[in-house]
Amino acid sequence: MDAEILILGGGAAGSAAAIILARAGRSVLVLERERAAREKVCGEFLGADTAGHLARLGISPAALGGVALHRAQIAHGNRLADHPLPFTAWGLPRSTLDEALLAEAARLGAAVLRGATAQGLMPEKRGWGVRLGDGRLLYAPLLVLATGKHDLRGQPRASGTGSVGLKLHLRLQAPPAGIVLFPLPGGYAGLQPSTHGRANLCVALSRGAAPGPARSAEALLAFVADASVHGTHLLRDAEPVTNRALAIAGIPYGFRHAAPADESGLYRVGDQLSVIHSLAGSGVAMALASGIGAGEAILAAQPAGAFHAQWRRRVSAPMRWAGTAAGVLAAMPGLSTQLAAQLPRGMAMIARHTRVA
Ligand SMILES: Cc1cc2nc3c(=O)[nH]c(=O)nc-3n(C[C@H](O)[C@H](O)[C@H](O)COP(=O)(O)OP(=O)(O)OC[C@H]3O[C@@H](n4cnc5c(N)ncnc54)[C@H](O)[C@@H]3O)c2cc1C
Repeated sequence: MDAEILILGGGAAGSAAAIILARAGRSVLVLERERAAREKVCGEFLGADTAGHLARLGISPAALGGVALHRAQIAHGNRLADHPLPFTAWGLPRSTLDEALLAEAARLGAAVLRGATAQGLMPEKRGWGVRLGDGRLLYAPLLVLATGKHDLRGQPRASGTGSVGLKLHLRLQAPPAGIVLFPLPGGYAGLQPSTHGRANLCVALSRGAAPGPARSAEALLAFVADASVHGTHLLRDAEPVTNRALAIAGIPYGFRHAAPADESGLYRVGDQLSVIHSLAGSGVAMALASGIGAGEAILAAQPAGAFHAQWRRRVSAPMRWAGTAAGVLAAMPGLSTQLAAQLPRGMAMIARHTRVA
């Protein structure tokens, strides 16, 4: 056996599990395919739930240079809803956050192997085998599957066609004071300030709507700016940091893992366990909470199936709220923006109900 617990993926969920387990003195090996810090397709909005889970893991967004966000806006056509958030949120690049989490896991004694890509899983008599890209085989009694947006061969998530995510860091003369949501044809965009005076633009679109905006940074900026007066104003002098957006396809919004019987010792976490609509900005909270939960389940010798079933119940309400909010915004962007402007309590209620306690 190469470790007692193998964790595949050193993102938010995998690192959270590694921290809980390493802190309890268990032998953990994390496999992370990226050799160094890298950005991910993500809106980078960290809500109060995320900050709470991070505090349990010994990480503070403020100490990492995160930008505090106090307001939320929705802009469509010439309409603008603008309200205070019901909690303080943070903007922080995923490259910074994920590296801090992985470094904390290593500091607590987890072994971290970078540049190691898991290619497949094999059930063994007493645990699991993992085949790496370079042909090596590793074995462990327990496995945490934390590969996030990326499916391992033989472990697909039900997705239909899935959505497309695009993300672009920008320099703006006047970044917004909080998160700004723009309903778009086929999806939505989120714009918020980030570290080093930059802003992060993240867009989720149906597969049919994505090819045009995904062509170049300029095409994406024009697509978002054209949808509202406020967007045109905010993005008028935007300078993209890269000439193309990062992209990911096949996002299975609404996915919740339903455990088959033969998963003994295989704990799924993060996006491999459930995928909340990104409009809610609580995917990282769910990744952290499920990583912490899986770590605690392993420490308590709770079977993986029982952990997965408990998780399905825990996220059912926030996922329903997020899916409904996204559906209504997509179907009636003008009316939703107008209602959000007139009903500040409604916006705060959605922000609260899409958190993972
Ligand atoms: C468009 C969009 C916008 C979003 N905006 C927000 C937001 O504003 N706020 C928020 O909270 N959430 C947001 N989310 C959701 C959030 O990004 C995810 O829920 C979160 O990243 C899931 O964390 P994770 O650890 O499961 O996966 P990831 O963060 O994807 O981490 C998985 C890790 O596994 C590694 N890996 C992958 N495959 C392998 C392999 N085969 N072998 C070894 N390592 C591997 C990867 O390199 C990566 O480091 C958004 C999602 C999308 C699509």
